[in-house]
Amino acid sequence: MTLDLFDLTGKVAVVTGATGVLCSEMCRGLAQAGATVVAIARNLDNINTLVTQLQDSNGTASGLSADVLDKTALHQAAEQIIAQYGRIDILINGAGGNRADASSMPGQRSFFDLPEEAMQWVFNLNFTGAVIASQVFGKVMTEQQSGVILNISSMASYQPMTRVIAYSAAKAAINNFTHWLAVYMAKEHSTSIRVNAIAPGFFLGNQNRYLLIDKDSGNLTERGRLIIEHTPMNRFGEPQDLVGTMLWLVSDASRFVTGIVVPVDGGFMAYKGV
Ligand code: NAD
Repeated sequence: MTLDLFDLTGKVAVVTGATGVLCSEMCRGLAQAGATVVAIARNLDNINTLVTQLQDSNGTASGLSADVLDKTALHQAAEQIIAQYGRIDILINGAGGNRADASSMPGQRSFFDLPEEAMQWVFNLNFTGAVIASQVFGKVMTEQQSGVILNISSMASYQPMTRVIAYSAAKAAINNFTHWLAVYMAKEHSTSIRVNAIAPGFFLGNQNRYLLIDKDSGNLTERGRLIIEHTPMNRFGEPQDLVGTMLWLVSDASRFVTGIVVPVDGGFMAYKGV
């Protein structure tokens, strides 16, 4: 059956940033497609809440607390996953985000005053975190000679967004890394290890709410209004909008696809405003 191509029964999927707005929905999609989900984030209470929700919906799931910038913690996580499930088939590098003090804001912070520490923090979380997790879990895939890595990029990767300098640079680096790792895995390890990315358009999340919604009035900010105006489908994305593309990219349905970044953006990238 054609739909069997999307079936993830027997696959073990590790998701970093699993408790976030977008990745918790991806975890639900993975579990519904039959995968065993290992949710990685930092806050154990949030992890336990997500894992219970997945299990209550008949999913198979467990969770681990680890920082994606802590390679030792990720190695320990990989050992635990292998001891429990014996393999790692899918890695979704979902941990990411921005910080207000790394964003220029008219009247508040100019580019010239952005602290290096804040920019470095954002760059490390969005780029280095995905690289380290791919080193640790990708190595397991090379031993198995199979696996799929999915990075989460952004519209800011193709052309930078105003305000978010380090975030844009890190996501541009993620696209480059996606191409790089796809070639490396296929040429030097296995043609059955694929690496792709999703570039979500604008989804209301913890990292960007302060930029898009005025916290006092609850109305769209000027930036939020501009985004909707430049999104032909005329709305922010909803986490569920990412699930179909995610399932395609982590399943055999995309078995000849590697090294691509797929925009899921309601047409934002295609539209020049005229
Ligand atoms: P979110 O803030 O809701 O979730 C981020 C998750 O990452 C949380 O679970 C958090 O605990 C985890 N996390 C943060 N730092 C971590 C660390 N050092 N180690 C481990 N986990 C860590 O964010 P979201 O909006 O769901 O975004 C998920 C991904 O999608 C991010 O990479 C983000 O940049 C990207 N993205 C989001 C949007 C959007 O509009 N929301 C658009 C494009 C791309």
